Amino acid sequence: MTAPAATDLLAWYDRHRRALPWRAEAGERPDPYRVWASEIMLQQTTVTAVKPYFERFMARFPSVRHLAEAPSEEVMQAWAGLGYYSRARNLHACAQAVMERHDGRFPDTEDALRALPGIGAYTAGAVAAIAFDRPSAAVDGNVERVMTRLFAIEEAVPGARPLIREKVLALLPKDRPGDFAQALMDLGATICTPRNPACGLCPWREPCVARAEGTQESFPRKTPKKAGVTRYGAAFVLARADGAILLRTRPAKGLLGGMAEVPTSEWRADYELDGAAQDAPLPLRWRRLPEPVRHVFTHFPLELSVLVGSVPTATEPPPGMRFTAPTRLAEEPLPSVMLKVVEAGLKALRPPPSAP
Ligand code: SF4
Repeated sequence: MTAPAATDLLAWYDRHRRALPWRAEAGERPDPYRVWASEIMLQQTTVTAVKPYFERFMARFPSVRHLAEAPSEEVMQAWAGLGYYSRARNLHACAQAVMERHDGRFPDTEDALRALPGIGAYTAGAVAAIAFDRPSAAVDGNVERVMTRLFAIEEAVPGARPLIREKVLALLPKDRPGDFAQALMDLGATICTPRNPACGLCPWREPCVARAEGTQESFPRKTPKKAGVTRYGAAFVLARADGAILLRTRPAKGLLGGMAEVPTSEWRADYELDGAAQDAPLPLRWRRLPEPVRHVFTHFPLELSVLVGSVPTATEPPPGMRFTAPTRLAEEPLPSVMLKVVEAGLKALRPPPSAP
């Protein structure tokens, strides 16, 4: 069996590289700001989902300075829908750190990049390699899959990461480390896919141990995950007669930190819906919708019962809350789970169409 060579992968990449909005054309210098922003967005999110966000985000914040100087609500709002909101907070903090510590220029080494907020080992490696052509290993899920198959690595991930890193560094070419990093990502995303990898089209089909043994889909080996316990809670959709909805901002730290939401109870595994009235923002006759809204976070599934109510236009919001007019709702940084809650609540509150 021949040993895998970087040149075979690079030759494949030169013919089949994906055109991505954040990727420089062949021979062009990549913009570190775009490379960094795309890598943060792509953490736990697919390329297809990120593409439209990326374009809009870049139009709104065309440079690291624009992003650093933007109010945090604007950044959260531009991020809403991408999920994992701590990434947006870190993104903003990182842009400010680049302005303050590096005069608006991203540092070009893995170590200096890692010292910035929200940049972990993977992102530092990816930015150093792609934006600055540094010989760095950027090991993400795609790269893990390719390397564990190529060498039939039996150790389960994430424990196998140091070994995978070592294998990547051993293969790294001196002259095109940035292209090599992107080629590995592309190979994992388009050929060496989790199911039915297209081994016949793979530039490493000859040296691949898993292919030779017909065990491709069993790699990477994984340690079984414990499923989170479902949490329950109540969410209150309160509409004023003029259509404005009662909202508040979640605390800056923690899950969905800094995002907008309708008032809710605590979310707990043992939440008792019978006592929901005590968690309501105002004492009213609340109507509970028959179907709860379900959402799955990384660590736990959530089931929110939606209660709806209406009040006259003159009603003042309780302390720390606000009424938002329907025309301004799109400007609120509402995460996906809250969009589902608001949509269900408004649908229930809408008067039925009058008979012809
Ligand atoms: S030969 Fe198949 S399993 Fe091996 S690296 Fe290529 S696509 Fe993946």
